[in-house]
Amino acid sequence: MMKDKVVIITGGAKGIGRGTAEVILEKGGRVVVADLERTDDMPKGVEFMECDVTSSASVDAMVRETARRFGRLDGLFANAGIGTYKDFLEMDDAFWRETLAVNLDGVFYCCRAAAREMKKRGGGAIVATSSVRALATTAVVAHYTSSKAGVLGLVTALANDLAPHGIRVNAVLPGAIETPMLWDAARLFTDNDMEKLKTTFLPMVPMKRIGQPREIGEAVAFLLSDAASYITGAHLPVDGGMLCQLC
Ligand code: NAD
Repeated sequence: MMKDKVVIITGGAKGIGRGTAEVILEKGGRVVVADLERTDDMPKGVEFMECDVTSSASVDAMVRETARRFGRLDGLFANAGIGTYKDFLEMDDAFWRETLAVNLDGVFYCCRAAAREMKKRGGGAIVATSSVRALATTAVVAHYTSSKAGVLGLVTALANDLAPHGIRVNAVLPGAIETPMLWDAARLFTDNDMEKLKTTFLPMVPMKRIGQPREIGEAVAFLLSDAASYITGAHLPVDGGMLCQLC
């Protein structure tokens, strides 16, 4: 269902984006990874394009170049994001803006550029990365939670705006996924001890394990594929049941 589809993955050099790139490549898709910088162990077969999603000029150029090289654009996974932590009362304007610039402005710029390209060719599909934290959260992440709730709002709105152009728009809401971002949290909160960090998360996860990037990738590949032809505006948790549990 992904055969020869051309898909852009932002933040695809690491973590969830990278896992999704592997899954889509294995399903026969062609993948452009758009990220700040390449890593040494990029999956074989991806095209790397340097892109900063906080700059609409950078995003527009990356999407234009993708269309030029491949002749079309079928899918976008707007996934690049940052996760940081700060007491709300200590939060200054720049700190708030930095997160909104990547996590929400970046998704807006990517959706707009991709949709303009997809419209020319009769349609496409977009998936954006939100988070379980858009719906239920903890202290010290007001900026992050707001950005991810904004992504859900944008996806809901764009399902309406873009349906007439044959473009479907959905969101995935990852729970705790083992990526460099989770390692950053381990450095901050559990003295770099991932096992200890996991034990703080596991009571919140009915399936009693942390997720892997490829498990998000499988959900994204489905939503981008023709198998999801009647699905738009969906907010899909991929979280081992985290959002189902009161604790
Ligand atoms: P990660 O830090 O492992 O990878 C993020 C990638 O985004 C990196 O390659 C980074 O270079 C890239 N990136 C950051 N800023 C960018 C910018 N301005 N322009 C282009 N690329 C940029 O993070 P991850 O855990 O893989 O997270 C991916 C997405 O999933 C993020 O939106 C994150 O908020 C979300 N998420 C992650 C988790 C989790 O537990 N890991 C949970 C819920 C949601």
